[in-house]
Amino acid sequence: MKAGFVALVGRPNVGKSTLLNYLIGQKISITSRRPQTTRHRIRGIKTTPEGQIVFVDTPGMHVSQKRAMNRYLNRAAASALVDVDVIVWLIDRPAWLPEDEWIFERIKSAGVPVILAINKVDRLEEKSVLLPFLEQAAARYAFADLVPVSALKGVNLDVLEKKILELLPEGDPIYPEDQITDKPERFFAAEIIREKLFRTLSEEVPHALTVEIEQFKVEGGLTRINAVIWVEREGQKVIVIGRNGAVLKKVGERARRELERMLECKVYLELWVKVRKGWSDDERALHSLGYVE
Ligand code: GDP
Ligand code: MG
Repeated sequence: MKAGFVALVGRPNVGKSTLLNYLIGQKISITSRRPQTTRHRIRGIKTTPEGQIVFVDTPGMHVSQKRAMNRYLNRAAASALVDVDVIVWLIDRPAWLPEDEWIFERIKSAGVPVILAINKVDRLEEKSVLLPFLEQAAARYAFADLVPVSALKGVNLDVLEKKILELLPEGDPIYPEDQITDKPERFFAAEIIREKLFRTLSEEVPHALTVEIEQFKVEGGLTRINAVIWVEREGQKVIVIGRNGAVLKKVGERARRELERMLECKVYLELWVKVRKGWSDDERALHSLGYVE
């Protein structure tokens, strides 16, 4: 049997989390149209008769190291490259962008087989540009394979998975066969709330917030969840709450519905918005809010 670790890397927003969710067949990594949605390293485990693939989803790699949050995201992305057996490098168009150069250097130094996956081919109008690009990329580096895919529509993902399995070492499963992720339910509760905030709020507010679970208590057929949404400024608090609490209510409704589906029980969700000045540029605050890497 095959078993091993596969890192999903690439620029923010290329579809790494979408790919992970499709392959696992369940949403374990939150996604949105905004870059920097993924902030944590999340493992997604897929066990089939052929083997066990442990996918490591990562925050996108950021060229800028200025803010403490960006440094944390880069650490989380870089640490995901340590001790993996295969890297899947995702790009979202048949082009090698300047930011990719920086990522490429880091990938090369990992010294493991790299599959270049060109995602979002479903939105590619001119398919004829693919072949020349694949030839160009293959000339630049000895990729283990080059695979055009669509993580959203599930195009060619069976081919990608087969190739990954071929490259993995022989070994016993690393996780129990029925386990699909390494993170606890409490973690997903915070992530689901954060996803609804990312999808509801516009512009820079989502990046200034984080969600902390204060209580996660199972009481018979009910799960009681209290969460704090931390923002950086009073003005952001006003936006998150919305007129007469309308925004917070909508976010709470959407999150609760998804949590009930995930936990398969009734959920009582309470959300509070609080201000913690400059938390995202403060190493100690980041640490205490669960950004540990
Ligand atoms: P990540 O930052 O790399 O994890 O990217 P996400 O998985 O969060 O995806 C970013 C955005 O791209 C989301 O709006 C996805 O729905 C979208 N997306 C991901 N894969 C595809 C795809 O294959 N085709 C299209 N059209 N959109 C995609
Ligand atoms: Mg992501």
